[in-house]
Amino acid sequence: MQLTIKNLSKTYSNGVKALNDISLTIPQGMFGLLGPNGAGKSTLMRTIATLQDPDSGSIHLDQLDVLKDKQAVRERLGYLPQDFGLYPRINAQVMLDHIAQMKGVGNKAERKDLVDNLLHKVNLFSHRKKGLGTYSGGMRQRFGIAQALVGNPSLIIVDEPTAGLDPSERNRFYNLLSEIGENTVVILSTHIVEDVNTLCSNMAIICQGEVLMQGKPAEGIAAVQGKIYKKSIDKTELDKYRNEYQVISTKLLEGKLSLRIESETDPGAGFIAVPGDLEDVYFSYISKKVDPITI
Ligand code: ADP
Repeated sequence: MQLTIKNLSKTYSNGVKALNDISLTIPQGMFGLLGPNGAGKSTLMRTIATLQDPDSGSIHLDQLDVLKDKQAVRERLGYLPQDFGLYPRINAQVMLDHIAQMKGVGNKAERKDLVDNLLHKVNLFSHRKKGLGTYSGGMRQRFGIAQALVGNPSLIIVDEPTAGLDPSERNRFYNLLSEIGENTVVILSTHIVEDVNTLCSNMAIICQGEVLMQGKPAEGIAAVQGKIYKKSIDKTELDKYRNEYQVISTKLLEGKLSLRIESETDPGAGFIAVPGDLEDVYFSYISKKVDPITI
């Protein structure tokens, strides 16, 4: 199973070029699509999910032409959109049964087994009779995964799934996602580097509708080793450092500004060499496109 995206472009009617000649090869397993807000992630996810058409380009799931055979794709697809509406008064059990029915699981007993299994899997069995409107953010996202898993999809798309979750909810969600079968293509779209670091064996970084990097997180990390330096400075000195160095990120730490820069050679001037991590990889690429201080 492999998803192959070639030369995908989309310009919205207001002139925004959301996808600019995107080509990606997405193998089986968990694939992280990382990019800042406005990068084009949702546009790409909705296009793969057959909900909108690009202006040009192609998408294939193995031999299947995603842009032409939409119905065949929908039968194989599990999709957790960024904002999905929940009927507040319907309970999880009834809703999942309804979705299973729509996805063609005909037999009532079969559906009951399927729904019970999914509810156990996402740890919502004991809450199955409660209205969806009473669920916390983490419970909503777990319900979202359960509905995406109905019908054993071979392609699963989750768009910004951990935004707004507290750390323990995020952990539960990570555990759940990591259990999804090996024989599935799972695309996780996120602006949170930790999501990709924790879960994904392959990744891409996109920004302003373009692919800046694709590969394995470890390859990205290896490529920045020996190039990342940090220094704690006073906030007022930031502009001076931005003029002199390639600043990739800043963090406020105990009232001082912790600066990370990328440099081929030792910059001296009190900078300390540090091991590069995936956040450095991300900011290294992004900072060459947009101002790293404003994202
Ligand atoms: P992301 O999911 O990475 O935040 P989006 O795909 O939502 O990015 O958006 C990419 C760009 O396209 C943004 O500049 C956004 O404002 C714009 N955009 C998204 N949807 C529409 C739309 N329906 N009409 C016009 N512009 C849009």
